[in-house]
Amino acid sequence: MGFLDQMKGFAGRVGDTVEKGAKSVSENSKKMAEKSRLKKEISQLETEVNSAYASIGKVFFERLVVNPEPECQNAVDAIASKNARIEQLNRILATLEDKISCPNCGAGINKTQRFCDKCGAKVEFIEEVKADVVEEVKVEETVEVVDEKPVETVTATAETKVCSECGQTADINQMFCEHCGKKF
Ligand SMILES: [Zn+2]
Ligand SMILES: [Zn+2]
Repeated sequence: MGFLDQMKGFAGRVGDTVEKGAKSVSENSKKMAEKSRLKKEISQLETEVNSAYASIGKVFFERLVVNPEPECQNAVDAIASKNARIEQLNRILATLEDKISCPNCGAGINKTQRFCDKCGAKVEFIEEVKADVVEEVKVEETVEVVDEKPVETVTATAETKVCSECGQTADINQMFCEHCGKKF
C-alpha cells in the first residue's frame, strides 16, 4: 500500500470515529429530549390525578362534615381549621392588595370581576363600592359586548387559558372564570 493510500485509510478511520461520535452525541441529545418529554408528561398526569383525588376528597369532606366518622375526624378538623385560617389570611392579603375579598372564600378580587376565580362564587359588590363603580360597570358592559366578538383572536398561551363558555382569557391557575363563573 502506497503512502497516499495509507493516509487515505487513516483519514477514513478518523472520519468514521468523528461520525460515530457525532451520532452518539445526537443520540444522547435525542434521549435527553425524550427523557424530559416523558418526565413532563408524567408530572402533568400526576398533577391531574392529584387534582382528581382532591375533588373526590372534597365531596367526602362535605359528607363527613354532615355525618362524622371517628377515624376521619382529625383530618376533617385539620381541613376545617386550616381553611378558616386561609380565608382569614386571604382577606388580609386582599386588603393589602387594595382588592375586595370574595364573600365566600376571602380571595382577593378585582372590582371588574363578576365571579371569584378561586371558588366560583358570584361577586356582589358592597354598597359603598357599588356607588363608586356604577359608571364604570356600565362602561365595562358595553366594552364587553365588543370584546365577545373577536373570540378567534383569543388564544391560550403557557400562562393563560380560554374559557369555553364565554371565550375570555383566564390565568392558568384560575379555577373559575372571573367573567362567567365557569369551572375550569
Ligand atoms: Zn371565592
Ligand atoms: Zn367564562
